[in-house]
Amino acid sequence: MQQDHRFPGVTEITPTANIRVNAHGGRAKCLQRLVRLGLPVPRTEAIDFRSVSALKSGQTLDFDAIFGRMDPDLPLVSVRPSTAQPDWGGPSTVLNIGMTDRVHEMLRGSIGAAAADAVYARFIQSYALHVARLDPGIFTGRASVADLLRAYEDAMDEPFPQDPGTQLRAVLGAMALAWDGATARLLREARGAPADAGLGLVVQQMVLGVGDCERGESGSGVIQFVSSSEGQPQVTGRYLNQSQGREALLDNVPALYLTRDPRGPSLEDRAPEIFAALQEHGALCRARLREEMQIEFTVSHGRLNILDAVRVKRSARAAVRIAVALATDGIIPEPEAVLRVTPRSLLDVLHRQIDPEAQVTPVTTAIPASPGAATGRLVFTAAAAQAAAARDEPCILVRRETTPGDVLGMHASVGILTKRGGVTSHAAVIARGLGLPCVVGASDLVMDRKAGTLTAPTGLVLREGEEVTLDGSTGQLIAGAVPLLQPSMDPALGTLLAWADERRDIGIRANCDTPAEARLADRFEAEGIGLCRTEHMFFEDDRLTLMREMIFAEREQDRRAALDRLLPVQRGDFREIFQIMAGRPVCIRLLDPPLHEFLPTDRAGMAQLATALDLPLSDVQDRIQSLSEVNPMLGMRGVRLGLSVPEIYEMQARAIFEAALATEPRVTPEIMIPLVSARREVELVRARIAAVADAVQAETGETLEYRLGVMVETPRAALRAHEIGEHASFLSFGTNDLTQMTYGLSRDDAGRFMSTYVSQGVFEEDPFLQLDTTGVGELLEIGAERGRTASPDMVLSLCGEHGGDPESIAFCRKLGFSYVSCSPFRVPVARMAAAHLAIRESSDLGASPLLR
Ligand code: PEP
Ligand code: MG
Repeated sequence: MQQDHRFPGVTEITPTANIRVNAHGGRAKCLQRLVRLGLPVPRTEAIDFRSVSALKSGQTLDFDAIFGRMDPDLPLVSVRPSTAQPDWGGPSTVLNIGMTDRVHEMLRGSIGAAAADAVYARFIQSYALHVARLDPGIFTGRASVADLLRAYEDAMDEPFPQDPGTQLRAVLGAMALAWDGATARLLREARGAPADAGLGLVVQQMVLGVGDCERGESGSGVIQFVSSSEGQPQVTGRYLNQSQGREALLDNVPALYLTRDPRGPSLEDRAPEIFAALQEHGALCRARLREEMQIEFTVSHGRLNILDAVRVKRSARAAVRIAVALATDGIIPEPEAVLRVTPRSLLDVLHRQIDPEAQVTPVTTAIPASPGAATGRLVFTAAAAQAAAARDEPCILVRRETTPGDVLGMHASVGILTKRGGVTSHAAVIARGLGLPCVVGASDLVMDRKAGTLTAPTGLVLREGEEVTLDGSTGQLIAGAVPLLQPSMDPALGTLLAWADERRDIGIRANCDTPAEARLADRFEAEGIGLCRTEHMFFEDDRLTLMREMIFAEREQDRRAALDRLLPVQRGDFREIFQIMAGRPVCIRLLDPPLHEFLPTDRAGMAQLATALDLPLSDVQDRIQSLSEVNPMLGMRGVRLGLSVPEIYEMQARAIFEAALATEPRVTPEIMIPLVSARREVELVRARIAAVADAVQAETGETLEYRLGVMVETPRAALRAHEIGEHASFLSFGTNDLTQMTYGLSRDDAGRFMSTYVSQGVFEEDPFLQLDTTGVGELLEIGAERGRTASPDMVLSLCGEHGGDPESIAFCRKLGFSYVSCSPFRVPVARMAAAHLAIRESSDLGASPLLR
């Protein structure tokens, strides 16, 4: 049936009515589906977006006619909002519209005085609150209808409206205005609603859950068949005898359990046939609406009515289980199950979270840089973190900013907080790799290392050793311990990711620096390692001393002697990583940071080093001074270091080759040169590495296979990719440095003003988090295109932090990259995001069936 021309803008919801999500909202569409399933839904009319909006400019609808179509024995209606997306909010539901002195009298006869009074009283209160906008305090303590009517009249200087049409007009008008209010607008826009999102309304014949007890059971409730927090099958909900709407869900009401329960009476005991019917309706909804629904129902004198159904609210973990169960039961196809889970939500499944029920007041909120939550004792140095770990005491490491020298302390911590830095600062990158919660840029905290205190802007002082909770998903620091939910890598997630893998068409590797991270990559089924940063391997105690010896060596032969002792250590690391990855590709980046990062910064450290190297302290200080640079990030690092001290790369190449030859199954190692900006750099490093390969082959008599590639992380490398690519078999875009250099924006300092920039719309998003597809992206496009001219088989990839970001993955996929590489914990997110892109492109499964 088309819209009734006598009542434009108002459409009765029948199986064939023209109800559309874009015109009437999702609730109206869902109600039509319930009607089509033959469920006992009371008469409902849908008012479209346009008509609701027109109410604000004084246009009207035939309100009397709406009442005229309802049951003459119960001329009452409810109004509920109906928006295009369920989570865009909307005004509160109003029940019992049409309640007047006349109807009150009539109901006293049909359902008894007490029930009739309760219905009228409820309506006066909700009308006063939502339509007249009176202070709720006016009605406290007033129980009788007469008192309430008087209070209304006193406050409004006019009697409570006695014409149903007038009441309905006022309710609908108030709802239309509320939708335009600033709070409602902000809320829905934060959830992705467009500025012109429409509000539809559904007007439904009331069926009373209050009635004459002699005539059978009356009450109302909600029921769902799956747990919202865990997603496993479980009847959940509440039912309250002699109630309306969602009263059963209020605290301190004597609600019944739904299923039989030793703790108290249940609906199943009290009205078994109603409970059985609800179960049947629930199963039908699941199968035909292809979704887990929460059903709102009323029992009126023993008769069951279904008033509404909404998608069950769910945690990220529950969303995974629900989607997999629906597909396993053949209700939805597997690709649709994949689309039903938002890739980013997997981060919540894979990390500990603060229990959403917990009440928390943060000490401060800064930049969330690595998700998850942890509780531990405050420590201010990496050494204190290691000492705490040795005592088996979880600790949160707080630093102004971290440096490679802090890595062991970071390993020993359960969370990291820094005063400086942004989302690609050292602390953030390492924490993501380790899967540790991290908050950066907490510039409003005052840290006094000597006194061992951290002072919040409120004046609250946290002392070293005190317990705090850090939430890297929200950026909050909280004093004390807070209840946490444990992560799960449950079988349903494994199944869903396997379905995702079947569809995706871009590879996903992991960035891993250590065997522990490689194990994580293996657990999250990464296809290989896309970036193994080798510098972190040199920070463990025994290695650091050797590294420092090497740095202090004056002569090449002394340097080589120190490197010879580092060789077996490095070879052992590589071998372990190759073994864990069991034949999957591993891309190892040659040493990147400037050498001074391996040297102590304080006097005590320098004195210790002087003793270890048997040198006067002044020599150590001089050497450190000579290595210091004004701008080390643009100084002697990466390939510049590799060419200035070639023995380092030679040692690393040998370690890689010897480890590869000692591993079964054999791997073809990939070696990557960092910070390249000129063709000649690649030529020179390539020649040296080839010489090492020849030597190893000659020594072992074995044939070596390896690939040499270039990390494109300077703008010049992207622009000259055609000549740089001549000597490379792969190009991997290091978008952390590339973003830093393209914007001329320090990745360690951007946190200070990034939120100002984003909130003022200078940057749409933090470019270190989400790839800037226009500027940096253009360099990627140019680099990819020119790189392919050097060789059509050039393997292209991205290994900056953007590798785990769904929008950035979409961009890489468009450019035909072979893979992206990201922190191990982000691998599942990336696998899902890549599958979403491929599935969406190949079909029209994009919209939820409920909304189609
Ligand atoms: C990069 O610059 O994008 C990169 C991956 O390397 P790093 O973060 O180690 O500088
Ligand atoms: Mg880099």
